[in-house]
Amino acid sequence: QADLAMYEAKAAGRNTLCFFDPEMQAALTARSMLESDLRLGLSLGQFMLHYQAQVDEGGALVGAEVLLRWQHPVRGLVSPLDFIPLAEETGLILPLGAWVLDEACAQLGRWRADARTSALTLSVNVSARQFHQPGFVDLVIAALERHGVDGGLLKLELTESLLLDDVDDTIAKMSALKARGVGFSLDDFGTGYSSLAYLKRLPLDQLKIDRSFVRDLLTDPNDAEIARAIITMADSLGLSVIAEGVETEAQRACLANQGCHAYQGYLFGRPGPVELLWEQLVPKA
Ligand code: C2E
Ligand code: MG
Ligand code: MG
Ligand code: MG
Repeated sequence: QADLAMYEAKAAGRNTLCFFDPEMQAALTARSMLESDLRLGLSLGQFMLHYQAQVDEGGALVGAEVLLRWQHPVRGLVSPLDFIPLAEETGLILPLGAWVLDEACAQLGRWRADARTSALTLSVNVSARQFHQPGFVDLVIAALERHGVDGGLLKLELTESLLLDDVDDTIAKMSALKARGVGFSLDDFGTGYSSLAYLKRLPLDQLKIDRSFVRDLLTDPNDAEIARAIITMADSLGLSVIAEGVETEAQRACLANQGCHAYQGYLFGRPGPVELLWEQLVPKA
């Protein structure tokens, strides 16, 4: 604060006004270090995918969500919440997102030969900048073809704000990919502001009930109402529903009561290396 005042005073004396805020400077330095680390991490192969089980009403594994992980040599395991926004801003999400899609399709390709895994689907998160880039449709199709994967096994998770960015571009891209069998899931549903009329225009397949509503399902009657409303809305639009962040049997039972048929959350498995999914293939006796 004192530094700032002194600097301003000096600057003012020279008839110029500059701001020097040490805190802001530190934040900018940290950000540019993270950015160069991100670039380096991508070229050094520090990224990997974790998989989180998605199960049906009987608890059987039906697929998984792909979650990006960054294993940094010094920072340790960095959460996507800490680097995805910067990757979006800097455009690094384009190569990073393309890598995720290719890896996911490679995994689907490896599952193809085994009857126990050949019907499992993978859900991949797609960010706004990535989706709206020119050539996104071709990128996805190329990844599917490279690994000989049926588009019906791939789901793309989009967010409400992404869909609202540019509705015409969104519908065109979704339709082109749907023609290849690719499915679309609306992530974090309920946290945005989509209207029913608007949702009807989009070729979606699934709504994903946001974790924030699942968390307090049993204690907050409003959240229980919201979950019920989302399930009803999905039914009337002909969409499937999956609840995310299901941690307890009581939450699962409550959602099931309201007509939910698919679940994801710590109750069924934490995100982890793909091998962890194998343990869930055959329900434990
Ligand atoms: P999301 O797509 O909503 O993913 C669900 C998040 O909830 C994941 O956090 C997951 O680990 C966490 N989660 C799952 N089950 C539970 C549960 O039972 N309890 C609790 N407390 N949490 C649970 P994660 O892996 O940290 O990812 C955070 C977000 O980062 C994701 O939210 C997604 O928006 C983004 N993200 C992750 N991977 C990618 C990617 O490859 N591309 C893009 N664009 N975004 C990604
Ligand atoms: Mg997601
Ligand atoms: Mg989500
Ligand atoms: Mg979420």
